Amino acid sequence: MTPQATISLPIRECQRCPWVWVQRGLHKPRRCPDCGSPYWDRPRRVTRGAERKAEEAAGLLTAEKAKAASRREWLRGKVREAKVAD
Ligand SMILES: [Zn+2]
Repeated sequence: MTPQATISLPIRECQRCPWVWVQRGLHKPRRCPDCGSPYWDRPRRVTRGAERKAEEAAGLLTAEKAKAASRREWLRGKVREAKVAD
């Protein structure tokens, strides 16, 4: 085995387009090689509405809804049980 001098170059991810690339050279690239955006390392400004949509997409609100729905089901079951006991 011959020892190799390897530098691990960082993997860069464009925040403006789906481009992911391995950095060439030691310095952070100025622009995205694909879309050419100088703001490739900064995410787009997120508005409140978009944030909410993102949360929903991440399933956070969906999980809350599911929890509420299962609780509703549980309560309905309780009511039915009470009626049967009568
Ligand atoms: Zn890009």
